[in-house]
Amino acid sequence: MNAQPNRGEGDSRVAVYPGSFDPATFGHLDIIRRAAKQFDHLIVAVLNNTTKSPLFSVEERKELLREVTKDLPNVEIDSFRDLLVRYMRSRQAQIIIRGIRSVTDFEYELQMASTNRQLDEGIETIFMMTNPKYSYLSSSIVKEIAKFHGTVQDLVPPAVEVALQRKYDANRLP
Ligand code: ADP
Repeated sequence: MNAQPNRGEGDSRVAVYPGSFDPATFGHLDIIRRAAKQFDHLIVAVLNNTTKSPLFSVEERKELLREVTKDLPNVEIDSFRDLLVRYMRSRQAQIIIRGIRSVTDFEYELQMASTNRQLDEGIETIFMMTNPKYSYLSSSIVKEIAKFHGTVQDLVPPAVEVALQRKYDANRLP
């Protein structure tokens, strides 16, 4: 009678914000801050996807996320390589947070949300609309600009900016 479908880890509301975060941008951070206000515990989960070739390793992405969320006590940074719904179960979480920037995002996200629901009916996906300031912002765009040594300071937190500079300086051909 008293079932609380959205409750996990003890009696608290736990949400998972999964993604590549390669690297984290102000768009991601905006979603993290807003979601952290709505839930007791927010797990930002970096997908360890072996089929993509990311710029930053999973450890580097986690470290950057930790740095930029260190003022948010209810935010935890983790990673997973399993099916998302299985990871959710292992963390006793039932809410997935995803951000929507455009109609293109919506189509893909609808497909993902429907698939996850198919795999586990207890999982609910909650979408948060982008802050219009960041509606054009993606990790790919940031990488493209940084690669050509353009300025990304309005797009990513300072720690990420420094990490991008290091990465592209190290990769620069002589
Ligand atoms: P994925 O590879 O899973 O799409 P991303 O790191 O690109 O991972 O994005 C993770 C989530 O954050 C996705 O739901 C994406 O739509 C959302 N997101 C990315 N950039 C923004 C942004 N600028 N504003 C709002 N949501 C965003």
